[in-house]
Amino acid sequence: MIKLHNTKTRRKEAFVPIDDQNVRMYVCGPTVYDRAHLGNARPVVVFDVLYRLLRHVYGEGRVTYVRNFTDVDDKINAKAAETGRDIREITDETIGWYHEDMDALGALRPDHAPRATEYIPPMVAMILDLIEKGHAYEADGHVLFDVNSYDAYGALSGRKLEDMRAGERVEVADYKRDPMDFVLWKPSSGKQPGWESPWGYGRPGWHIECSAMSLDLLGESFDIHGGGLDLQFPHHENEIAQSCCANPTGDFARYWLHNEMLQVEGKKMSKSLGNFFTVRDLLDQGVPGEVIRFVLLSTHYRSPMDWTDKKMREAEKTLRKIAELLGSDPLTKPWVDLRYATPPQEFIEALANDLNTSLALTLIGKYLKNRQEFELVGALRLLGFFPEALVQTFAEVRIQTVDNSLVSGVNIQTRGAGLKTDMNSLNDLGKRLQKIRKEAMESGNFSEMDALKSALTDAGIEVRMSKESIELIPGVSFDLAKLEALK
Ligand code: AMP
Ligand code: ZN
Repeated sequence: MIKLHNTKTRRKEAFVPIDDQNVRMYVCGPTVYDRAHLGNARPVVVFDVLYRLLRHVYGEGRVTYVRNFTDVDDKINAKAAETGRDIREITDETIGWYHEDMDALGALRPDHAPRATEYIPPMVAMILDLIEKGHAYEADGHVLFDVNSYDAYGALSGRKLEDMRAGERVEVADYKRDPMDFVLWKPSSGKQPGWESPWGYGRPGWHIECSAMSLDLLGESFDIHGGGLDLQFPHHENEIAQSCCANPTGDFARYWLHNEMLQVEGKKMSKSLGNFFTVRDLLDQGVPGEVIRFVLLSTHYRSPMDWTDKKMREAEKTLRKIAELLGSDPLTKPWVDLRYATPPQEFIEALANDLNTSLALTLIGKYLKNRQEFELVGALRLLGFFPEALVQTFAEVRIQTVDNSLVSGVNIQTRGAGLKTDMNSLNDLGKRLQKIRKEAMESGNFSEMDALKSALTDAGIEVRMSKESIELIPGVSFDLAKLEALK
């Protein structure tokens, strides 16, 4: 039994699909004018886990997942004006990047990824229908949704119309009957993209695309609607108003799920605040997609989360240990055939409890510690990590042991374009640590050794010391500059 927190009712509810032969989910996708930043990746990974869980519970072919691409938007027009490039060229390129980057995070592609520009006629049809039913009106070349015609407006986000009006700071266009009325269609001129319509040459407002696409691909009632919390108002409120007024016999979406924001120093990561870095930035620095995925899942989706180097380092450590446990050929174990590994019941239950991914990762840590490979592999797969891929990613980066008596040199292999390792420096440091440790063992004073060890850790190097050996493993946050300071 899956339980999900439904924003609509503000409660955790048992999930009962409309049709268990075809469970249907819609998630709002990106506006495609630039590389996705790390915050944009959070809903992708969160809803990917939900998609995987639904497929596990209901069957692989019994879940339909739709995520759109917003490829008509003023930010895209601005980018085209700024670069002199064709809009279609920009959106095609950005969609290609998006797929590349999200694939690297291990996210399955949705069953349908429609582009807004492919849905103009259905949007026009829905707008006509809304006008006919008395929920929308034409004014000054625009078509607006009349929020006063829909009693439940504001129910999802728990806002009242009068409070929303009071919060309205921007100057309100005088053709609006109510300041909260929102645009369904607007006129285009010059180089702006546009289509012929009953209201002249123009383009759709942002919200209508999700209503039109979900109706076409999932029907007038479907199960789950997801997106970031920043979309709850006004985007999702407006989607509900449009869809429920156009299709009064349907319920539109039954369960609304919202992920909290990825933050930087307490503020939402966003393009407009400039406090962002892209998924590609991290991948290019040599951070494996699995590490990014692991960190994103370490916080429950309904809590805000901070991205820190420390989390990244810890995720990498765990994933490397998993790769090491599973060995070079993770599926060939004489005692158990890991190809048939299944996720343990307690693990499925953790995910089924409103996607408790942080508990799921704790359980993975437990299976790792107890060397329960069968459970570990089953759990990893359900969460979208694959043993073969982990071994491949982390095997390459292993560093040779610095031998106890004779430092024969450190064999360092690098992964990713950004992970630049200075072999000589690392080798020297290995020797130095070796020497200091020998002295410390004799004198019983370990302070110098501990200081060097923590300086190495700060530079992003994992230090493993055992009686026989010292291992230095530069990780994802390895910083050559900090190594220079140690010399
Ligand atoms: P956008 O392209 O801005 O419409 O965003 C695409 C998706 O990313 C939406 O579901 C947003 O809610 C989500 N999103 C944007 N910024 C963040 C953030 N900082 N943390 C989590 N999700 C975000
Ligand atoms: Zn949407």
